[in-house]
Amino acid sequence: MSSHTFGLAGIMGWPVAHSRSPFIHNYWLKKYGINGAYVQLPVAPGSLGIAVPGLAALGFRGCNITLPHKVDVLKLVDEVDVMARRMGAMNTIVVQPDGSLKGFNNDGYGYIHSLLDAKPDWRADAGPITVLGAGGAARAVVLSLADRGAKEIRLLNRTDAKAQALAKEFGSPVKALPWSERHAALADVALLVNTTSQGMHGNPALELDLTALPLSALVSDVIYVPLETPLLAAARLRGNPTVNGLGMLLNQARPAFEAWFGVMPEITSELRQSIEASL
Ligand code: NAP
Repeated sequence: MSSHTFGLAGIMGWPVAHSRSPFIHNYWLKKYGINGAYVQLPVAPGSLGIAVPGLAALGFRGCNITLPHKVDVLKLVDEVDVMARRMGAMNTIVVQPDGSLKGFNNDGYGYIHSLLDAKPDWRADAGPITVLGAGGAARAVVLSLADRGAKEIRLLNRTDAKAQALAKEFGSPVKALPWSERHAALADVALLVNTTSQGMHGNPALELDLTALPLSALVSDVIYVPLETPLLAAARLRGNPTVNGLGMLLNQARPAFEAWFGVMPEITSELRQSIEASL
């Protein structure tokens, strides 16, 4: 940990003003009586190579990394944790006691724990899983589901080639299917996950016919603005259990806070409610 007694961390991205991470981490700093602050670090792409190596000198314990830097930052740290390496992206930097930088990716952890918070007996091997999308969020979701023991992950993406490439990279249990088969790919599944940006505030809803989806299937969306996407609303109305993307955001923040400040923080109902009210 840094020799600086004031605990400094932040979020580096371009832009960062929309991020809820300062709200979450500053809530925990206050709750646990830690003298510190979590700040916005708006860093333009051309400045990333100067900003990241400056973290230790500025007294930062580390920072989160968001778009568009999650991949480019990999080559700017001294060590990359195995999960971040497999995901091919980082979302957290921790300044080590010797001042070197280590990169992590906690998005997969956040996703799995969002499901467990909603359904403590959830198991990845409960049945086939269908994941829609093959971008950054999909990489975290698919890899973490596979690591938790998923037996069959059907991966479908609007640009089929990206789903095929991901299936090839991750291997068994991931199988790519054509986007046109997404409605039929819901048959027999225990979990359906939307990792596309469709349904996010400002975007049209995902085009998906839920008829084949078993009523017992858990339906999860990594989007958290709005909290209930059209997909989750449709699933809820027909009787499926649902999980929104807020739990992923909150849970990915926990191990980062612990690494920087030495306390594994709790997601209190007060924190969840105040974030929900701000969305
Ligand atoms: P990304 O890498 O840009 O991927 C976007 C995905 O959406 C791609 O699979 C893309 O398909 C698909 N897509 C875009 N337009 C589409 C359309 N018209 N029809 C069908 N599919 C379409 O983005 P990302 O970083 O993965 O983020 C995706 C979503 O996850 C965002 O809404 C983001 O806010 C959310 N997210 C949430 C958390 C959390 O903590 N809860 C964390 C990360 C991300 P193509 O490959 O065909 O373009």
